[in-house]
Amino acid sequence: MDDVDLLIAGAGPVGCVIAERAATVCGWSSLIVEKRDHVAGNCHDEMHESGVMIHRYGPHYFRTNEKPLLDYLSAFTGWIEGNYRVKASVNGALYPFPINLDTLEQFFGKKLDAESAQTLLTSLASDIPQPANSEEFVLSRVGRQLYEAFYLGYTLKQWGRHPRDLEPSVCGRIPVRFTRDDRYVDAAYQVMPDKGYTAMFSAMIISPRIRTMLKTSFEDVRGKVHPRIATVYCGPLDAYFDGALGNLPWRSLAFDFRTLEQEFAQPCVQINYPNEHDYTRTVEIKHVTRQTCPRTVVSYEYPRAEGDPYYPVPAPAHRALYERYRAMADEETRTKRVYFAGRLATYRYINTDQAIEEALHTFERIREDAAHGDAVGRHARVQ
Ligand SMILES: Cc1cc2nc3c(=O)[nH]c(=O)nc-3n(C[C@H](O)[C@H](O)[C@H](O)COP(=O)(O)OP(=O)(O)OC[C@H]3O[C@@H](n4cnc5c(N)ncnc54)[C@H](O)[C@@H]3O)c2cc1C
Repeated sequence: MDDVDLLIAGAGPVGCVIAERAATVCGWSSLIVEKRDHVAGNCHDEMHESGVMIHRYGPHYFRTNEKPLLDYLSAFTGWIEGNYRVKASVNGALYPFPINLDTLEQFFGKKLDAESAQTLLTSLASDIPQPANSEEFVLSRVGRQLYEAFYLGYTLKQWGRHPRDLEPSVCGRIPVRFTRDDRYVDAAYQVMPDKGYTAMFSAMIISPRIRTMLKTSFEDVRGKVHPRIATVYCGPLDAYFDGALGNLPWRSLAFDFRTLEQEFAQPCVQINYPNEHDYTRTVEIKHVTRQTCPRTVVSYEYPRAEGDPYYPVPAPAHRALYERYRAMADEETRTKRVYFAGRLATYRYINTDQAIEEALHTFERIREDAAHGDAVGRHARVQ
């Protein structure tokens, strides 16, 4: 097991991309250890017992603005067009979400165009020049009525905290559109791997230079495998240091997958329930995978305080704690050539395209450091 160039902890998007680049570009060998029983990390998709393809860890809508990134991934998959449409259930009716012109017309019961909609929102918005939290941010943009109908309840369920206790960026990520564009996201490329994410990431690591050990955690091999070039760690940062400074808090989710004997159960892939039920959203991923099948599966998503780490809880104290761990991680890179990459190790919510971008950068850093026989000074400069 010692005879490897890279030891990689985690077979998620980041681990797979780094192993692939190392094998293809440098001819390096990698040992990937993955604690779960599958590859592809949280992007993992699989055939449910009903015969319907599901996303086990929540819906993953692939999108990017970067054509080179799409070209890179195209070596491992074909694509189907993304069909990411979301509605919010409010007062018994379904509204397009994020809020667009159609949402506003339906909600206020009057005809609007871009100009009159902007005038309307300006008249409704609270005058808060520098919003200090998510509540103030949304109030300053759309006013109290829309805030209470679409944002408040969802945020309370999702985070288990009031929007006024969350940073502005938490709700600030959701656009408001003065057009009739009803797509969930704005990115230039919205496509899905035609055979799924697990197939795409599996294709990345088929090289004989890459060995993958499932159901094996980093802790199982730590100190036993001594890679020639570097270790890449994609697990939770605090766990790497045994929680020495305290735990970095994460929000978790529980999923309830229900099979229905009908072709489709809802009009689009995702319905948000800001004000009813314990779950935040229902997801019928068939709209996105475009699988043909006489039955369907709907996933009900319940936010949880405990469980697998899904979303870092955004708060200044948590960021400060992360920075202290980060300093320890930088020292580990400098002295032991351990590189920390991906969402868990950098305590951030990142989309899959951003995770892949980060993996490509991390690989380049490792390569440069290896070329100079020294992780120390170069890493410090790249940071
Ligand atoms: C609910 C949800 C919905 C999302 N929806 C989207 C979306 O619509 N579109 C999008 O682009 N992105 C989405 N994402 C983000 C996407 O999941 C991530 O960007 C991506 O998975 C990050 O890849 P990663 O390799 O950093 O981490 P992960 O995918 O988490 O992979 C890390 C891997 O490391 C393994 N691991 C952890 N610790 C250890 C250890 N000690 N030893 C061995 N293995 C270990 C884990 O089991 C995991 O397989 C979503 C995320 C969540 C939580």
